Amino acid sequence: MPTKNRFAELQDEITAWRRDIHENPEILFETHRTSALVAEKLKDFGCDEIVTGIGRTGVVGVIKGKASGSGKVIGLRADMDALPIHEQTGLAYASKTDGAMHACGHDGHTAMLLGAAKYLSETRNFDGTVVVIFQPAEEGGGGGKEMCDDGMMDRWGIQEVYGMHNWPGMPLGSFAIRSGAFFAATDQFDIHFEGRGGHAAKPHDTVDTTVMSAQAVLALQTIASRNADPIDQIVVSVTSFETSSKAFNVIPQRVHIKGTVRTMSKEMRDLAEQRIAGICEGIAATFGGTVAVKYHRGYPVMVNTDAQTEFAAEVAKSISGQCEDASLVMGGEDFAFMLEERPGAYILVGNGEDGAMVHHPEYNFNDEAIPAGCSWWAEIVEKRMPAA
Ligand SMILES: [Zn+2]
Ligand SMILES: [Zn+2]
Repeated sequence: MPTKNRFAELQDEITAWRRDIHENPEILFETHRTSALVAEKLKDFGCDEIVTGIGRTGVVGVIKGKASGSGKVIGLRADMDALPIHEQTGLAYASKTDGAMHACGHDGHTAMLLGAAKYLSETRNFDGTVVVIFQPAEEGGGGGKEMCDDGMMDRWGIQEVYGMHNWPGMPLGSFAIRSGAFFAATDQFDIHFEGRGGHAAKPHDTVDTTVMSAQAVLALQTIASRNADPIDQIVVSVTSFETSSKAFNVIPQRVHIKGTVRTMSKEMRDLAEQRIAGICEGIAATFGGTVAVKYHRGYPVMVNTDAQTEFAAEVAKSISGQCEDASLVMGGEDFAFMLEERPGAYILVGNGEDGAMVHHPEYNFNDEAIPAGCSWWAEIVEKRMPAA
């Protein structure tokens, strides 16, 4: 039976898991209930090994094929965490937790990987080992990195890793992927300008930090427009500008600027870090103030490897008859850390053309994408490690 037909049979059960997870969202590393639910299900399915507490609240399950002579080990990864958003879907199974919501569809990813784990535990129609990876804290916490730092790849001998994200705006159950850089590196900066505060009617007695910092906000835009090769991708966004004065008649002593940088290569990332410091130091010197620049490196560029991407696209085509070339995404993805340690591929599955984008309070994962998503997981395993 084609995997998609088997998952059509399992769809109601997987949907029920998804809605249960949706109703009980947990943020960052606080995925205690979700992790326990995942571990319990993996036990019910008869997984060969289940380990909790990898990367704090991450869960790992091991499923051995009916043969293991190939020596191959594939990792399949889903994320479990929700977002600090107040849900406004009005769904019967909407979040029961104020200020937390599965607005990125990680409820769907977790349920689909559980569905694949159930099927693979039942059938075991492959020669090798599958490691199912359920990570916390994808949304900015680096849960994937923590699982890697706990030695996950070596402990289970994982050779390749695969990941998936639902994508609103793409036709339901369709696929899209790209080789090489796919999701951006996501960095943050903190800039503290200091001058000499004073009376707003006596600017000549002050070093005006507001004017100095305003010059910096404008000059930072020249990194993308004047320093970067126009062919390369880079975003520099100032998102917060806070002076130390709340009064109409006080020139502030200090200004704190915050923002984010998105890049698609190491070169652009290094350029942004160097230029932000150079521009701010130059402006502070010009206006007689001082500056402290902190650049925090977040998720690295997520890079799909060529061979695994080609294979992942073939599997997608066999399921839905197509696989589009995806555009670059300037958002970040914690799976980048796993792809830094092992070759692999990350694919997008269509959530349907209507409906809100991820991270919107009216977003909802589309349960009709479950057969396609689960089939992709299962066929990655069955085709990459075929049983004799
Ligand atoms: Zn997200
Ligand atoms: Zn997400």
